[in-house]
Amino acid sequence: MRKQIVAGNWKMNLTVTEGQALVQQVLEQLPELSAQKQVIFGTPFLHLCQAVAQTKDTANVGVAAQNCHHQASGAYTGEIAAGMLQAAGVQSVIIGHSERRMYNHEDNALLAKKVDAALAANLHVIFCCGESLDIRDADTQNAFVEQQLNESIFHLSAEQMAQVTIAYEPIWAIGTGRTASAAQAQDMHAHIRGVLAAKYGESISQQTSILYGGSCKASNAVELFSCPDVDGGLIGGASLLADDFLGIIRAMV
Ligand code: PGA
Repeated sequence: MRKQIVAGNWKMNLTVTEGQALVQQVLEQLPELSAQKQVIFGTPFLHLCQAVAQTKDTANVGVAAQNCHHQASGAYTGEIAAGMLQAAGVQSVIIGHSERRMYNHEDNALLAKKVDAALAANLHVIFCCGESLDIRDADTQNAFVEQQLNESIFHLSAEQMAQVTIAYEPIWAIGTGRTASAAQAQDMHAHIRGVLAAKYGESISQQTSILYGGSCKASNAVELFSCPDVDGGLIGGASLLADDFLGIIRAMV
């Protein structure tokens, strides 16, 4: 059985003090997580060491960075390497979020290099894909997402793919309050799983967790997570308040 995951993506929010309080509140009320369920805090870089220290004794709870550089080290002022994250106790990194694609001009080819850098540093990758509203309106979202996967992760070996979680995040649903319907999410997740099966075989495709992201909240998480190919969520706004995030975690357990 593949893992179910609820991962928060704080984006550029919260001071270190606020982040520390949020992690503490979530941990205090965290329901029992079986080995197949996982909770991840995706924090800004500045918070990571604190979050690692806070979560290290709680089973099935981890910490993710929201980005890493594609080189292992060097003269890249202001950047953070995957190996630094790994050495600090961070387990995962979010790569390819649509906001980074848009505001930082990260294209599929660069993201492929970031995925390689992260895996080389033994980080687990949460790879984001998803279409804009234009593409959805033109009904070409399946081909678009398939191309994102093709160009950024399908160069990986099957062994490497086992270290990747995919997050489907339709851009039109991110931060807009307009969630994809459960049927829309399920359709795309089934498509992604089919594409994975064609490339890597049935076993890898069945083992890969595919998360939904985009205005996921406690009130719609139960329905979304009950879809057969939706294995949890990548949560933005609703990961910033303990009660909201816990509500979504409870939808998974
Ligand atoms: P949202 O963001 O939950 O605020 O829509 C999701 C994301 O961007 O990961």
